[in-house]
Amino acid sequence: MNARSTAIRAHHALAAAGQSDLVWGHAAVRDPSGDGVWIKAPGWGFEEVDEERMQLVSFDGEVLRGEGTPHKEVHIHLEILRRHPDLHCSVHTHAEAAVAFAALGVPLLPLSHDGALFGGADVPRFTLTGGLVTDPALGSALAETLGDAPAALMPKHGLVAAGPTAGAAVMHAVLLDRACRVQLTAMAAGPVRVHSDAAEAAAKRAECWPAAQLDAGWRYLLRKDA
Ligand SMILES: [Zn+2]
Repeated sequence: MNARSTAIRAHHALAAAGQSDLVWGHAAVRDPSGDGVWIKAPGWGFEEVDEERMQLVSFDGEVLRGEGTPHKEVHIHLEILRRHPDLHCSVHTHAEAAVAFAALGVPLLPLSHDGALFGGADVPRFTLTGGLVTDPALGSALAETLGDAPAALMPKHGLVAAGPTAGAAVMHAVLLDRACRVQLTAMAAGPVRVHSDAAEAAAKRAECWPAAQLDAGWRYLLRKDA
């Protein structure tokens, strides 16, 4: 499957996972030519994306294929994928639970399998701005915040995730949003008293979220979309 088709699927999977925010948010997949990344064109919802609504954007922000100008926040993807040659896909959404949880300013705890994604560490947070990531400098700072983590929160805004495959990147976004939702639910009911310690969280990360498990989740989202 070519990079454009994979990127289309990534958007559809995010829709199936409930991470749509009208026409905002996007996923990007590195083109194997090295010319740039495939990302949806502005103005379309995740589930509306098809071949005509995709753009190949160079690492300089120029639209090489497709119509119109790119999303203002394309720099998120350009800088993450420029910085990490081993990553092939990045995701940025305004997932509601992630935004709500980030507003609390408390550590993300390994309450569930989803929460074990970070192996007992807190999720990174991009605090330079709560506004749009509209230039390479902000994109680069966000990429630095993400580092080698599977995903990061963008307080007052959304989340970012990345992975060596589109499936991994999408699932990292899905797991972060679910972990946030579980913790919000628990905190709304009372003080959190039970969660994995660092050792159990690290073991659960390896047990629950190897590449094959992430791929299984991704394939389910694609079937759900079909
Ligand atoms: Zn955004």
